[in-house]
Amino acid sequence: MARRLTRDHHLYAFDPTLPPAIELEPGEVLTVETHDCRTGTIVREDQLADLTDTSRVNPASGPIRVLGAEPGDLLAVDVLEVRVAERGLMVVRPGTTAFRHRFQEPRLKMVPIRDSHVLLSERLRVPLHPMVGVVGVAPAAGRVPNLYGGDHGGNMDTRIITSGSRVYLPVFVPGALLAVGDVHAAMGEGEVFLSGVEIAGEIDLRVQVLKGVRLPTPLVETAEVIAPVATGATLDEAADRALNKALDLLLDLAGLDFYDAGRLLSAAGHLRVSQYVPPTVLHCRVELPKSILAQLGFDLRRALAAG
Ligand code: CA
Ligand code: ZN
Repeated sequence: MARRLTRDHHLYAFDPTLPPAIELEPGEVLTVETHDCRTGTIVREDQLADLTDTSRVNPASGPIRVLGAEPGDLLAVDVLEVRVAERGLMVVRPGTTAFRHRFQEPRLKMVPIRDSHVLLSERLRVPLHPMVGVVGVAPAAGRVPNLYGGDHGGNMDTRIITSGSRVYLPVFVPGALLAVGDVHAAMGEGEVFLSGVEIAGEIDLRVQVLKGVRLPTPLVETAEVIAPVATGATLDEAADRALNKALDLLLDLAGLDFYDAGRLLSAAGHLRVSQYVPPTVLHCRVELPKSILAQLGFDLRRALAAG
């Protein structure tokens, strides 16, 4: 039986001064219950007035104190499985998104989950794709609200953070103070109409502490790709940062020279928009296919094991 962190232990900002909710041994499996993006306060589509209260948005469950994690270490967070509740919600507020000049009204929509699909309407359904929007650690100082992303991870809203993925994060404070939440039942690349299919869920995870290794973080690893993620004040800045992290990875870990690395990125790297919700939340990632890196004899797990 895996241990369990209940969803009443949650935070709205990553903050090194918060007391841990639970202690976790590296290698131990933990089931983390998560609230939806509104902490379960929205149950009806007429609760539009409640949307103006943004004090309880994007909770993440934690903090999880990882035993043995020290500043300078890396955390490898294995997302073993993401499960979702039976009903999600989608929300949009005026003044946001690429469509901000085309609508003035906030809207709420409750969306049932049935037969491995999200029912957007009577005649429109999309495949279930459970994913984790927020995963991060406490920064060295100060507090970062869960709306934002950064070097600590946070609200990355990256579609490939899903069952079977691994997320590498830096450790800034003893115990790391990991938190996870903001599960989506489905989300297209970019999350372009403000929200994914926001839903309560459960995440089975396992954490490793890696000593003496350096990686451009946050970094997501799936069966097929490794993908550095970056935020920015603009989409251009997020793209530049993600690309430079990918370049650093190829230079420092795969041993390519600058022009070879650039050509590989241009020929086979995939710059993707993880999250495009102007004016505030923008993330890009660069997916590097493992099968192509393998030609160089590069294997991330082996490189990390070698230290
Ligand atoms: Ca989010
Ligand atoms: Zn969300």
